Amino acid sequence: MAVRSLRCTAQLYHNHPAWRNGLRGADCAETHRHGFFFAIIGGVKFDLHIHSCLSPCANLEMSPAEIVARAKSAGMDGIALTDHQSARNCPAIAECARRAGLKCLFGMEVQTSEEVHTVALFDTVDEALALTEWVYEAMPKRVNDPDTFGDQPVVTWDDDIVEMEWRILALGCRRSIPETSAKVHELGGLYIAAHIDRPNFSVFSALGAIPENCFDAVELSRTADESVWLPRAAGYAATRSSDAHNLDDVARVWTEAECEFSVAGLRSAFAAKATRISERIRFI
Ligand SMILES: [Zn+2]
Ligand SMILES: [Zn+2]
Repeated sequence: MAVRSLRCTAQLYHNHPAWRNGLRGADCAETHRHGFFFAIIGGVKFDLHIHSCLSPCANLEMSPAEIVARAKSAGMDGIALTDHQSARNCPAIAECARRAGLKCLFGMEVQTSEEVHTVALFDTVDEALALTEWVYEAMPKRVNDPDTFGDQPVVTWDDDIVEMEWRILALGCRRSIPETSAKVHELGGLYIAAHIDRPNFSVFSALGAIPENCFDAVELSRTADESVWLPRAAGYAATRSSDAHNLDDVARVWTEAECEFSVAGLRSAFAAKATRISERIRFI
């Protein structure tokens, strides 16, 4: 049942200190505003790591409709929705993307038992929701406190709130990286090590290395120095994604490949290490 509009809810919370900062939670992306990147010519251009308002640390302005509009205006050929521990806003963004003619993959950012962030991507909403159920089974049964962790609205394509997710999506689950890798691949998806350069919630910060035979590709964050991190990711195709938690960050960086924007297309590009990443954002 749609009970109120997302924009009305955003107004309700606009005085929250974290809302005023535009950020909520420990893993929120940085909000630096100065930088540049080089345009890359040819292929499909995509941003594979974007959070909607369902993620407790994302800005409530991150409705599926607004994300799709920003990605289109930024020239993306495809995007993926990857909320923390849940794909419950994927049905909404599927409809938004269909209406806008933008290609979209459906996924989530799984925080594993090793306290590592990993991105799972699928062609269909049903596959993403199947992984969500599997992750939910292994999550703490604690009820979210919005004042502590942030709001978690499940929304429709036109911004009505269907329900507030009650689980605490900011917490990890009891699934390990090898277990999650096996499940993602069993469901037909792709598995990417998220923001490997970050000092927390990354494979290097938690484990010191990239676990073997688990990932299809690795992701560099928007500020990662590729001269440092690409050698450390040798053996894996590299992606760079925005990890956007607010609208201004959608598609600020991207990845490009000569392939169809689908799981199969990306799998081939990853296997051939045939991806190109945008320039990192440099700060003044
Ligand atoms: Zn993350
Ligand atoms: Zn993220």
